[in-house]
Amino acid sequence: MAKLYFRYGAMNSGKSTALLQAAYNYEERGQHVLLAKPEIDTKGAGQISSRLGVQRDVDFLIAPDADVRRVFAEHRARVRAETGSDVACLLIDEAQFLTPDQVDDLLRIVVSENVPVLAYGIRTDFQTRAFPGSARLMELAHSLEELKTICRCGRKALFNARLVSGRFVFEGDQVAIDELAPDRVTYESMCAECYLRESAGRLA
Ligand SMILES: [Zn+2]
Repeated sequence: MAKLYFRYGAMNSGKSTALLQAAYNYEERGQHVLLAKPEIDTKGAGQISSRLGVQRDVDFLIAPDADVRRVFAEHRARVRAETGSDVACLLIDEAQFLTPDQVDDLLRIVVSENVPVLAYGIRTDFQTRAFPGSARLMELAHSLEELKTICRCGRKALFNARLVSGRFVFEGDQVAIDELAPDRVTYESMCAECYLRESAGRLA
């Protein structure tokens, strides 16, 4: 039976690299995969980029109001027509930006179509709150796997602190419009101790 997997972590935990590696592992065996990501992520729209420099176009973007089952079915039919074989796996980058309803549809794809879905995403926003898509994935996924990264102090990073022009900020929208100011908004993955020190004890 296929499963829904959620592989989550802080920013810079190598999620896109892991996703591209997983896709490669399928393709090395002659299987076909579909790559997708939510449309809200406009940095490098239409592409999955790893920090190691590998990058690849997605097969489709998922708009906030998109019916994921229908879009998946269209692309699955295309792969079948072009290759004569079925889709072995659906891989989703930036899955935190899916809506909860779209995550529900991923589980339906897994169960009723028997296609594994591997979703990669960030667990929490810069105010330590779960992204709606990530919260739903935590609830529904058959398998949860944490991708780890290190804080500047050497502990495991849990949170994503936001910096604007190099200064920590703890207020603002969940999704920064960083495409408008790519040099100004950055994030640092931090452990709880370092985060609380920078936020003066504030968590949201
Ligand atoms: Zn730390």
